[in-house]
Amino acid sequence: MSVLLVEDEAKIAAFVRAGLTERGFEVEICSDGNSGYERAAAGGHDVILLDILLTRRDGLSVLNSLRAAGISTPVILLTARNELGDRVEGLNLGADDYIAKPFYVEELSARIQALLRRLSGDRNSRLQVGPLVLDRFERQVTCRGHAIELTSREFNLLEYLMRSAGRVLTRKQILEHVWGYDFDPSTNLVDVCIQRIRRKIEFIEPAGDSGSPIESVRGVGYRFRETA
Ligand code: CA
Repeated sequence: MSVLLVEDEAKIAAFVRAGLTERGFEVEICSDGNSGYERAAAGGHDVILLDILLTRRDGLSVLNSLRAAGISTPVILLTARNELGDRVEGLNLGADDYIAKPFYVEELSARIQALLRRLSGDRNSRLQVGPLVLDRFERQVTCRGHAIELTSREFNLLEYLMRSAGRVLTRKQILEHVWGYDFDPSTNLVDVCIQRIRRKIEFIEPAGDSGSPIESVRGVGYRFRETA
């Protein structure tokens, strides 16, 4: 995910770059409005973070020119608290969102992801394997149209399995991905959580001859059946 950050305050730029890089984004920085416009117009970024008060050329003018030139890269404005009028003008000029300074990088990162999800539309936010449909944006799972109520952990685990459908995931991979840190791999957390998800699915869709869509791979881990 490539981010263009147009920000004239070096300290803020460095802090945003560090935080977003750590979360897997590639960040290019421009420190004034003119170079920001040129790089934005050249394209190749998934999102532009645009400060409003910039040297040489202000952010709203950059935004206005980009949209006038037909460049539709999503833009999030970085605004100061007292710039309400600018925010409204920015949204009217075609900004997709804004975030008020000071902000946490966690929030900025979440806003970027939410924006990109929103723009990518339903198709990419939905995972479907067999009769199961998982909506990452709404965080809902349905089976043949019936909702399956999952806890947040169960949802994350099912999403991981469905996204990797057809591939075997080890207990260790699942623990690291879903629980986020190193548990003793001999713990049965994963197995217990899988059992709960299976029961919830089977309540709506009884397992057929081939068994649960979540297949146990003896001694290794689990695999979501591709054609489940
Ligand atoms: Ca500034």
